[in-house]
Amino acid sequence: KESLDKGLEKTKDSFFSKLGRAVVGKATVDEEVLDELESVLISSDVGVETTVKIINRIEARVARDKYMGTSELDSILREEIAGLLSDNKPTGSNVPNDDFSLPADKKPYVIMVVGVNGVGKTTTIGKLAAQFHKRGKQVVLGAGDTFRAAAVDQLKLWGDRVGVPVISHGMNTDPSAVAFDAVKKGTEMGADVVIIDTAGRLHTKVNLMNELSKIKRVMQKFIPDAPHEVLLVLDGSTGQNAFIQATEFTKVTEVTALAITKLDGTAKGGVVIGISDQFQIPVKYIGVGEKIEDLQAFDKMEFVDSFFK
Ligand code: GDP
Repeated sequence: KESLDKGLEKTKDSFFSKLGRAVVGKATVDEEVLDELESVLISSDVGVETTVKIINRIEARVARDKYMGTSELDSILREEIAGLLSDNKPTGSNVPNDDFSLPADKKPYVIMVVGVNGVGKTTTIGKLAAQFHKRGKQVVLGAGDTFRAAAVDQLKLWGDRVGVPVISHGMNTDPSAVAFDAVKKGTEMGADVVIIDTAGRLHTKVNLMNELSKIKRVMQKFIPDAPHEVLLVLDGSTGQNAFIQATEFTKVTEVTALAITKLDGTAKGGVVIGISDQFQIPVKYIGVGEKIEDLQAFDKMEFVDSFFK
């Protein structure tokens, strides 16, 4: 995948130039190399917890095998990182994860999208709608971020652009009423997927928690097991801030999948590894650019491969 390779270029370049410096003149992986590797991982925003985990595993392998050449470090790191990632693909599946498939037994499949303003939430919803639509799926969008006029307008623009209906009650209306109508419309239409935007005002956590539970409660009047997916959108270029947002959002709602955006603009792509590992939530989508096809279904092997290519 060309755009994936290109999107991760900055992370890769920075990671490998640092890793290269860490092992220069060294034949074997020793304490010093491990120390350097630790700082390389931390500076790629893998996060302290996950970095320590990776280092401990490599240390254990060095202790067991007695000798580990620095030339083997790439393939060992690759194995360890892949082992920590989860991409929501059926286990053992070798099919590339680029099909944006939806479970056949949930119709409509309801996705509630959460995340703070500016992370790329609206854009991600628009791109997702486009990807599903392109695959012949019927999509309904719900403009549930009713606190920002721009969010409602932007979602309507995406709806027009992609050619899918957008349920909107305008600004400052009750988001749960929007969710109700969107799920109702999706059910009546026999739609395949309903995607609901929500407001990301994390500074009023109790309000946000109440608002999200009300949205869920109301949609459950139509579909008892909805939402089938709670997708948290994080901006990968914000590094440690993305970790903080994941911590805060998992306190206010259950989160079942992650979309990590803007990986093209950053050398901190390690955030994908750390967040997925630390929160044990699969990364479902990654954003590697502004174009529609730059929102990709996350495939951990492809991710690791493009990182180590
Ligand atoms: P929201 O406030 O969370 O709804 O954020 P928006 O969807 O309005 O996105 C904010 C900005 O980020 C927009 O200019 C998007 O085009 C941009 N954006 C979103 N995803 C990506 C991505 O993967 N890569 C890049 N380079 N820009 C992105």
